[in-house]
Amino acid sequence: MSRFFSSKYKNLVPYTPGEQPKDTQYVKLNTNESPFPPSQKAIEYASDAAKKLHLYSDPECRELVKIASDNFGVDKDEILFTNGSDEILNFAFMAFCDSAHPAAFPDITYGFYSVFADLNGVPYEKIPLNEDFSVNVEDYIGINKTIFLANPNAPTGIALSVADIERIVSSNPDNVVIIDEAYVDFGAESVIPLIHKYNNLIVTQTFSKSRSLAGGRLGFGIACKELIADMNTVKYSTNPYNVNSMTMATGVGTLLDDEYTKENCLRIAENRQWTTEKLAEIGFSFTESKANFIFVKHEKADGKEIYLKLKEKGVLVRHFDSARLCAYNRITIGSREQMQIFINTLKEVLEEIL
Ligand code: PMP
Repeated sequence: MSRFFSSKYKNLVPYTPGEQPKDTQYVKLNTNESPFPPSQKAIEYASDAAKKLHLYSDPECRELVKIASDNFGVDKDEILFTNGSDEILNFAFMAFCDSAHPAAFPDITYGFYSVFADLNGVPYEKIPLNEDFSVNVEDYIGINKTIFLANPNAPTGIALSVADIERIVSSNPDNVVIIDEAYVDFGAESVIPLIHKYNNLIVTQTFSKSRSLAGGRLGFGIACKELIADMNTVKYSTNPYNVNSMTMATGVGTLLDDEYTKENCLRIAENRQWTTEKLAEIGFSFTESKANFIFVKHEKADGKEIYLKLKEKGVLVRHFDSARLCAYNRITIGSREQMQIFINTLKEVLEEIL
């Protein structure tokens, strides 16, 4: 740390992204990317947009907003695009949290929520999940805090029903509730339609997972126009050109090719089912995931040892070193070929360990 670093950040512990190794060719099942390339249309639109990179990108993302608003059944002023959904989550912390509006989120969830809270000096409460890693809905009823819930949750993949989310949103009318739907397309139900009923609900989504654009960095939030206007105030006070032209064009191409996204989600759901069946046969248990990853533990083998041995053999999964999670590994669902290699390698690992 330099002697110039602001004292307000000196204790900040930054988010640790999943490993992105460049040295070895891993079967990469650790950061919930899509195994499928971007849609052909997305690639064509991006290369066209590259020809105009001498100009600034459209700060209002008009073309993208038009197509997306039709696609999601909302008005143009009810949607805001950002540089990945991480950015809109940060905007929400900046816009809707302070000491009078502390944040609340599960103790086991997306690790960035507490980092954003710390970055913005926001007090927060971590609400413990149930023993089985499900969210106890009662814990969020009328709590007078700005609530962040990933649905499905990460790293468990467990989803809440629309009815449960509606209970949480309606019981906290004086606070904003942010539902992070990064993984919703793989089997959970979106609460986007509820934004027309509740003026305290923000739904965030990303192009990084189901839409095969993790490297493009595109996310968005949908909410009533007043909440979107507040987040636009934050955006125009930090980085008006937050979405670059190539990514914007890629987003348009992707939304015009929605069938491709839907097919890929179906394939992931099938591969998830196939993988969990194979895992059950060799002594693993898992949470009921509606996401493009599964959260698994073996009845006899240690989670960290499995992770390390798999890595040695060229298969990368995500292990979390905390007390409650260390028995588990989070496995991204990839193509059928990748999952076949994963299962074969895992069998070898178990033979060595047990
Ligand atoms: N929410 C959750 C629950 C996530 O797991 C992630 C991905 N790490 C994000 C949001 C952010 O993804 P992105 O910034 O790529 O949209």
